[in-house]
Formats: sequence, C-alpha cells, structure tokens
Amino acid sequence: MKVTVVGCGEAFDSGIGNNSYLLHGAGLPTVLVDCGYQIPERLWAKGLHRRLDAVYLTHTHADHSFGIVPLLGRFLIERRKRPLPVIGHSGVASFVRRALDLGYPGMREHLSYPLEFIAVSPAKRVDFGTLSLACARSDHGVVNLSVRFEAKGRSCAFSGDGAPSAATEALYRGVGVLFHELYSVRRKYSGHSTLAELRALADRAEVRRVVVSHHAREHKARLHRAVAALREPGREWTTARPGQTIRI
Ligand SMILES: [Zn+2]
Repeated sequence: MKVTVVGCGEAFDSGIGNNSYLLHGAGLPTVLVDCGYQIPERLWAKGLHRRLDAVYLTHTHADHSFGIVPLLGRFLIERRKRPLPVIGHSGVASFVRRALDLGYPGMREHLSYPLEFIAVSPAKRVDFGTLSLACARSDHGVVNLSVRFEAKGRSCAFSGDGAPSAATEALYRGVGVLFHELYSVRRKYSGHSTLAELRALADRAEVRRVVVSHHAREHKARLHRAVAALREPGREWTTARPGQTIRI
C-alpha cells in the first residue's frame, strides 16, 4: 500500500496544490482522495489520472471537490471506457451531477464511460475491489466523512477537513498512517485542527505515524517548524510534500 501526495495545501495557497492523495499499490485499486480545483492539472502533468479506478470525496467544499468537473471532462476527451466510481456521502452524487451540468451542460449524458456513485456512511463498511473502507464524520462546517482504507493487513486514513471527533478517533484507532489536516499550531479555527488536538488524538488512538497537511498559509512556516521539532517516542510526525510517496 502506497500513498502519493498530489497536493497538500489549504484552499487558497499556491504552488503545493489543494489537499489530495493518491492511494495505490500492487493488487490495489488506485483511488484519488479529494479533487480540488488545483488537482487535475497535477494529475494530467504526470498522466496519473489514467490510473484512477475511483475518486473518494471527503466533502464538497470547492478545494476538495471542484476539480471533479475538469477531471471527468478530460476522461471524455480521452475516450475513457472503464467505469469511474465516485465514492462519498449520500449528497455527493447529486453534487457531482449538478457541478457537471453547470460546467458543461449536456456533457453528462454523453460520457464515454459509466459514471458511477458509491454512497458511504459511518454505519456501514464498504468493499471496493481489494480495499475495505470505513468512514466517520469529523467536526467541520459541512458533512465531511474522514475515511480509513484497509487491505492485506495494512491501513491508512485521511481526515479530509475537520477537527477530530469521537467518531474519527475511533476510526483512526491503530491505523498504519494517518493523513490529517492541521491548520494552526495553537489558535483555534472553527472546523479545523490545532497541533495540540492532533497530538492528543494520536495518543488516545495509538497512531504511530502521522502525516500532516492543509496548513493555513499564515501559519505554515510555524507549523513546519513545530512539527519538525516534535519528539515523541514511538511516533513519527511528518509534513506532507507534494509528489512524495509514502509506503505503508
Ligand atoms: Zn472543507
């Protein structure tokens, strides 16, 4: 199981892409986790979009979802034939349909590939190929379903946006690598995490590897220094870098 960082920025940063990850590996489906408006360009530049077996959207804020229209459009231009499932909460299907209809009216009816939707909810685990998915709602301004993937005894989880909740803490328990948003060191922003919150979460949920991203622009340099200075026995903290691949 591997995770490639496609982008690791907040909504309005530049040069590092919106927060987005590519889950892949031998015998595993390739799943893009989140697709903000800065992401298609990054996928196209390396041809990564052609590897996609599915897209998981944690939530519908633009920096996590508005790239879906150009992504699906280019698949049509390239005459993709394989189905493209979009996985997310029950509102994601109607959101993607509306976004497509706004962006390119009539395109949805003429896609060269089946556009499919898989609804997930905290109440049920979903299998997708060799991957098993479970999700939980974080503390965010809109419904955000953080997700955990498992396969062959390996696991990783992605927060999408949001501060930890009791439900996400249970979701992350003992996970191999946790990819979590981290917005600020100390100052609390509604619906986002502070470093102190994440440290407490990692302790309680017994998470040994944490990769943080989605830093507020104005706190980014401070966050990089604070994370680099962390020394916790038995736990590794790193800041995500665009293009890096993490083996799990
Ligand atoms: Zn958001």
